[in-house]
Amino acid sequence: MNDAQDFQHSRLQRIPVDDDWFDVLKIFDHLFAISEPRHYEHTVIYLVLGSDRAVLIDTGCGIGNLRRVVEQLTTLPITVVNTHSHLDHLGSNQQFAEIFMFDHPRSRDISRYGAPPEVLLWELHRQELVIPPWPHGFQGGALPPFNVSRWLKHDDVVERGGLRLRVLHTPGEAPDHICLLDQTHRILFSGDILLNGPVWSHLDGGDVGQLYQSYEFLMRHYDEFDLIMPSHNAPCQHKDLLPVALAASKDVLSGKAQTQAGIDPWGRHYKRYDFNRISILSK
Ligand SMILES: [Zn+2]
Repeated sequence: MNDAQDFQHSRLQRIPVDDDWFDVLKIFDHLFAISEPRHYEHTVIYLVLGSDRAVLIDTGCGIGNLRRVVEQLTTLPITVVNTHSHLDHLGSNQQFAEIFMFDHPRSRDISRYGAPPEVLLWELHRQELVIPPWPHGFQGGALPPFNVSRWLKHDDVVERGGLRLRVLHTPGEAPDHICLLDQTHRILFSGDILLNGPVWSHLDGGDVGQLYQSYEFLMRHYDEFDLIMPSHNAPCQHKDLLPVALAASKDVLSGKAQTQAGIDPWGRHYKRYDFNRISILSK
């Protein structure tokens, strides 16, 4: 058992909520991980409580009623910050009034036009992506457009309710991907680029070279956090996942790593490189 697993087993407390689509873990008094374990994506949404306002990092697949669960955890008003514009990270944006996103043509497009039902059906609502039962009241359909209150730039600081989250542009899996660094609590919210499992750089807009550069850039902040909170799979990883990922991406780029070919559930071909604790998928 490594440190990260140790931490999870000893510290994380499951919080009962009146909704069996979501799984809620309390990481600290101010921090909850809300995950969707019955979806193939196994997304993780973070609720960070400030003094008079809370920040919600991502809004998941939009299949369960996220707002209803958030309201069981806090009465504070919510600011949503999306880590990037993939559909499994902003599915419930329309349930919240204040949304911050990284300023990029992809995020501008998705907020302006949303996404049609057939795209949602293919990307997220297919039967084979979900372990039933589907949440009560879920009907599928389009992703509606949503209003963005603030367009974020690299190195901006999101200051809400006494929280301070530094915006770090970190492409590699998506061109508009950001990590959020909470220097007060020494936590890096790493989105899709640092997680226990595969990093999907084979997607449209993904690139292993950029991923490597993002890891190198994050290493400059290595002294400023202790824990990593990924947006998929297990929440809460020890920070030493970052140097592991940096070395892994370097081995992929230099051609040193062993690879095997595969196809994801959406029919996209990839080359898979497996390392200890992390895998990288490339085109
Ligand atoms: Zn994702």
